[in-house]
Amino acid sequence: MANQSLVRHINERRLLSALRVYGPLPRAELARRLSLTRASVTGMVDDLVARRLVEERPARDDGQRRDVGRPGIDIALAPDGAHFLGVEIGVGVMRFALLDLTASPVDTETVDLPTGAGAEAAIGLIEARLAALRSNPRFAKTIRAIGVTVPGLVRSDGFVINLPILRWQHLPLGTLLDARIDLPCQIENNAHAAAFGHIYSNPQAGEGVVVYLKIGTGCGGAVIVDNKLLRGANGLGAEIGHLRVAEDGPLCSCGRRGCLETFVNLRALQRYATHKDVVERDVSIDLPNAVAERLAAGDREATAAIAELSSYLLRGLVDLTNLFNPDAIVIGGAMLPLLDPIVDRIAGPLAEQIVPGMPMPRLTISRIGPFECAIGAAAMAHHEEFDLTNIDLHT
Ligand SMILES: [Zn+2]
Repeated sequence: MANQSLVRHINERRLLSALRVYGPLPRAELARRLSLTRASVTGMVDDLVARRLVEERPARDDGQRRDVGRPGIDIALAPDGAHFLGVEIGVGVMRFALLDLTASPVDTETVDLPTGAGAEAAIGLIEARLAALRSNPRFAKTIRAIGVTVPGLVRSDGFVINLPILRWQHLPLGTLLDARIDLPCQIENNAHAAAFGHIYSNPQAGEGVVVYLKIGTGCGGAVIVDNKLLRGANGLGAEIGHLRVAEDGPLCSCGRRGCLETFVNLRALQRYATHKDVVERDVSIDLPNAVAERLAAGDREATAAIAELSSYLLRGLVDLTNLFNPDAIVIGGAMLPLLDPIVDRIAGPLAEQIVPGMPMPRLTISRIGPFECAIGAAAMAHHEEFDLTNIDLHT
């Protein structure tokens, strides 16, 4: 009996995942894709309809239908059947994104996080956002889980080791959240979450090996292998920002000099573009837009700034390509307004400088925008609740 309910549980999640990945499907097609009988799919669908997680819809008219005389019915995820809250704890700011059951964003919000605020203040803002969302009848009972991202080292068990940019250290954030929030909470590094959000909304993009770089206040990274994050032994893997790309340079938050992050982030862009150094929290979030405008106008200083930043990024990408032989390298983050010219500048030299014979990875840009970490965090919560990591849907 126990085995039967486990099989049913697994098949239910396979069905929900298939509907997320492929969109609405007729019962017969669901049965075929999941290698189940039509009767067992119908039984599961009836149960999921009663629990408001899936719904019946008139079939999409794609010109392929042959069942003349009987209007086709598709089974689809019920978008408002469940919601997932993603939270980015950033520098001076917290961003929130709510995903529905189809993993589409339905609400976003930004609030200030006062300078010097600790974890208690951040958790208070999460509680307030959750309460505000639940005051809306649409979300009152449907928020199932929360994902939270932090800018730095956090273990898989939610223990924050070091967030130098926020000056948070040795903090049991997961335990603190569990004590105050009445939903399952998971905590992830911000770049890991952004990378996961990118592939979760486009599963084909996550197949093979994908290296992800998030360039903003810092320079974070993630490696994805067949749609799964390569987390390392403790969840701390892929600290790409600390690749050593120079003998010397500005002091990095890790205590060393020469790290990629110190040459490829907003503060470095400020230095290259204005020849003035300021601390991270004083760099304007509009800097990439301002430099992009100057670049488009042919400004020589802006052009030189992009050339300098690109040269260091190139060194990092050469090493990453040689190390992982990735299918794709995806770049995202607050540097987005400048990523097209940066990628244009890097593609040729990258092909020349990687190990001879190494295939050139696809260089792509994540255009999700400012809420990429919050959306990624919500996607991770969605994944935990409804997906099965090891089920291959591509049959
Ligand atoms: Zn470093």
